[in-house]
Amino acid sequence: MSEPVQAAGLYVHVPFCERKCPYCSFFSIAEGGNRELQQRYVRAARIQMERLAAGAGEEEISRPRTVDTIFFGGGTPAVLPVHLLADLLSTSLELFDTPGESLEVSLEVNPGTVDRDDLLSLRRAGFNRISIGVQSLDDGELRRLGRIHDRAQAEQTVTWARQAGFSNLSLDLMFGLPGQDLCSWRRTLEQALALKPDHLSIYELTLEENTSFYLRARQGDLHLPPEEIICEMMEWTQEQTAAAGLRRYEISNYARPGVACRHNLKYWDNSSYIGIGPGAVSFLANTRMAAIEDVAAYCRLLLDGGTGDGWRRVWVDSETLDRQGRFRETVIMGLRLVRGVSRTRLQERFGLDIETFYGPVLERLREAGLVEWAGEYLRLTPAGLRLANTVMAELV
Ligand code: SF4
Repeated sequence: MSEPVQAAGLYVHVPFCERKCPYCSFFSIAEGGNRELQQRYVRAARIQMERLAAGAGEEEISRPRTVDTIFFGGGTPAVLPVHLLADLLSTSLELFDTPGESLEVSLEVNPGTVDRDDLLSLRRAGFNRISIGVQSLDDGELRRLGRIHDRAQAEQTVTWARQAGFSNLSLDLMFGLPGQDLCSWRRTLEQALALKPDHLSIYELTLEENTSFYLRARQGDLHLPPEEIICEMMEWTQEQTAAAGLRRYEISNYARPGVACRHNLKYWDNSSYIGIGPGAVSFLANTRMAAIEDVAAYCRLLLDGGTGDGWRRVWVDSETLDRQGRFRETVIMGLRLVRGVSRTRLQERFGLDIETFYGPVLERLREAGLVEWAGEYLRLTPAGLRLANTVMAELV
């Protein structure tokens, strides 16, 4: 059974950072000043985009010629000079059909990497949504996180972004940080809300393997807030965001009405997306393909890959999902959304009924108060949202 073809999302992964933060497991390298490598990366990314847009002679992969969201993430996209970012964006607009006015074009920036003129140029280049990696508004916490900016720079970046004309502005925040207490999280959240963001992404710090925070925690050298304080932080977050008119629409995301991130909604809806750049993942025609996590090798494969199929070797991992696999994934991703998953839509997409498919497992979760029906939507309850990973593990 094949799903109807819809516009895809286009993700451009910029794998450079000024320096590596000690908690971060995203694929990026601390080569913020390596202009030669950055230029090679941009040329390689352009080739990857051209090959994917052309379908490279493969009908299945050529299907999503229309993209209605574009997202430049990283890494730290803004460590690239503005003209290179503008160049990559204009290449994508030339290669893919887009819906014009309603196209969402997001850019992640970090305070300390852009100034007022950069933001003006980026807005003029066509980026119309900005996501600012603030993380905390406490200078001590920012230092412990290894960030390159302080509170004043974060606030300044918000002001400049507004002045540059970004009317759709999101802030990234983190809680559960080393040395953080309830008071300092409250202060950060209150100060962030005073900046009047249209959207907030709020994540609890997680200790990812192969990060220095993970190693320090194992050695007993990292002091994180206890579980009961984390729960209080979460409750405070719900109350304050709601009072500020930001509706929680996903486990970690809050937005004013009408400005949920449409690009990220594609991931939670398990729709098609095209990933450009080293480490980026594409999901096209039921196949998920991950590109090599090595900037130099990525550039070599695309720039020296010749005119044949050599460029395809950038994908080092590929998995085609059967109907049941896609169904399961769609349920798990969709339950991250506060509204949950539509039974009718799942039936239309996959020809499977969620209640019949999961049977007693679903009943058990319902009786435990972790999931519930709201009309024809199955969703996590407030308790289920707190224990989302446990629920997902049951449905995998
Ligand atoms: S700036 Fe962002 S992507 Fe880069 S290392 Fe820090 S957290 Fe990771």
